[in-house]
Amino acid sequence: MNNQVKRYLSKTGNNEILERRFELLELSGIKNFFIDRVEIPDKGEILSKLALKYKDCKKCGLSNTRHNFVYGQGNPDADIMFIGEGPGEQEDRQGIPFVGAAGQLFNKMLKAISLEREEVYITNIVKCRPPKNRNPLPDEIESCIPYLYEQIWIIRPKTICALGKVAGNSLLNNNDTLGSMRGKFYNFQDIKLMVTYHPSALLYHIEWKRPAWEDLKMLMREYRKV
Ligand code: SF4
Repeated sequence: MNNQVKRYLSKTGNNEILERRFELLELSGIKNFFIDRVEIPDKGEILSKLALKYKDCKKCGLSNTRHNFVYGQGNPDADIMFIGEGPGEQEDRQGIPFVGAAGQLFNKMLKAISLEREEVYITNIVKCRPPKNRNPLPDEIESCIPYLYEQIWIIRPKTICALGKVAGNSLLNNNDTLGSMRGKFYNFQDIKLMVTYHPSALLYHIEWKRPAWEDLKMLMREYRKV
């Protein structure tokens, strides 16, 4: 980290997210200045470097049981980002998000709103599988979420769709029910964010497919607008 950055951090206090951003700027070859938003020249390359850098992360207990770290997949210049809760069994095996039965349904949901997987970016709140697909614990989310904030900061999508209660609660920093979070847009760091059902929930609750479809239509209307 260069001296100008060190001086800035010593003035502002030690802030983990800021430090990470400066590291990112350095990785991108950008040095000696500070602005809140920058255009990262090659987002794909930076995301690949970061995935390599973090793949052996041991910041929380999920590192003890995972097979693979699942960073994210998709278009680094995506205008829309989907954020789930955590990798499932197949995702853990393959190191790719949304590839199991829920992933197949997710692909269909995308197609239904005329989107392809290659157009969007997909990731999770935690990057390692919680055993037996339990919800990630608060300390696991707290340990992992800086990686997600960093991904959002790099990609800067216009819209974010949080899939499921855990993703919604983690991003909105609340403990609201899924039902009360649905059906509206929130401002998340100047990005439009909405919450809908996780595809794995839709596999077991067919009655939620109709409201999920309403959510997806709302998402597409906003996506086309911004
Ligand atoms: S879940 Fe996140 S914080 Fe925990 S070990 Fe995996 S990458 Fe690290």
